[in-house]
Amino acid sequence: MKDLAIILGIRPDVIRASKILKLLKNQKEIDFDFLWSGQHYSENMKDTFFKQLNVPIPDFEFTLDTQNDSTIVSSTITNLYNHFGNHKYKAAVFLGDTNTVMGSIAAAQHNIPIVHIEGCMRSYDWRMPEEKYRTVIDHLSDRIYAYLDSYKKQGLNEGISEKIIKVTGNPIVDIINENFEKFESGFTYLEKDLQDIVKSKYVLVTSHRRENILNIDSFTNIVNLLNSINDKNVIFPMGYKTQEILKNSKLKLNSNIKVLDPIGYLEFMYLLKNSAFVATDSGTVVEEACILGIPSIQMRYSTERPEVYDVKASVKFDPTEDNPHISKILGDVEAMNKNWDNPFGRGDASETIVNDLIELSKSNNFKKHKPSDYAFDVSNSFKE
Ligand code: UDP
Repeated sequence: MKDLAIILGIRPDVIRASKILKLLKNQKEIDFDFLWSGQHYSENMKDTFFKQLNVPIPDFEFTLDTQNDSTIVSSTITNLYNHFGNHKYKAAVFLGDTNTVMGSIAAAQHNIPIVHIEGCMRSYDWRMPEEKYRTVIDHLSDRIYAYLDSYKKQGLNEGISEKIIKVTGNPIVDIINENFEKFESGFTYLEKDLQDIVKSKYVLVTSHRRENILNIDSFTNIVNLLNSINDKNVIFPMGYKTQEILKNSKLKLNSNIKVLDPIGYLEFMYLLKNSAFVATDSGTVVEEACILGIPSIQMRYSTERPEVYDVKASVKFDPTEDNPHISKILGDVEAMNKNWDNPFGRGDASETIVNDLIELSKSNNFKKHKPSDYAFDVSNSFKE
């Protein structure tokens, strides 16, 4: 039996867990397998990040049926269920709120203790599949790493036991601290025309959330916001789904908006660090901007990261509003006072998480009961 299975599957997982994976790799007290669910699979949504951040490559990689969310989740569950049948672990570690974390159902079926990194974040917006996923995995979990005290409180309010929640700080701070010097080298990865564009002031944009791009009114509001930025260039590394939706719509972006395929982390962070501001619906980018001191427009009706508003690092743009006050929002973001404090922790979250995982593995103490008390043979499927 190995100590841990670490299961990840999308671009921001590699980034956020990069230090956790390296710390685990460089210690000898416990062993682990790194499993890649296969949710993201292309070079510039996956491999680039392993290379740029020196992340150990996965021990196991699965292929998913990517037709839709249900097939992604069901094939993740099946792949992990079969894997857990052949490989025994003391605990299965998941991160975040994606289709991949629903693979925790397979760990639950095998009665493998579940660990959730990024636990107890809540947007209280039940339209979002992410909100449902994180609620499910938190309630399946035996150990939860919550980034902030306020997130822990949200978990306690739902009746999750105080004993299983540990507050760690947000590992994205660690990643920025560790790689900060390298971000300037991101310039060299940019194509020539972008290297010219970044010589003058520009705005960076990302948008991929389904509640934004799959709702034509919200998506139209976002395009209108971007088309209203007419005194600067706009750089928009655009996910493939957003590209497809834009292409199939009647919407057009102005010529000062440069659309790219998704780019690597170092070049993205170069662009973020040197931008006038960022307009984004990404969970991670809004944290990164806040930590780097870059103003952001958060293009979301709801957020699970309200502290960016609390410290006045971000302006809200609600794409669901009929009249989203575009010029006021653009004025507000330009007028922002940039001396807010980073609300996301000290930069030792990865170490705190890894130390706790080592301690729990060595004491075999992920559950109140020993894992062996729970184990039973699920190799024969139950029939009626
Ligand atoms: N990112 C990147 N290249 C891009 C766009 C984003 O490296 O073209 C990084 C960004 O710095 C952040 C993460 O990817 O760390 C955000 O991913 P995404 O917005 O897809 O996910 P979310 O955080 O919303 O789950």
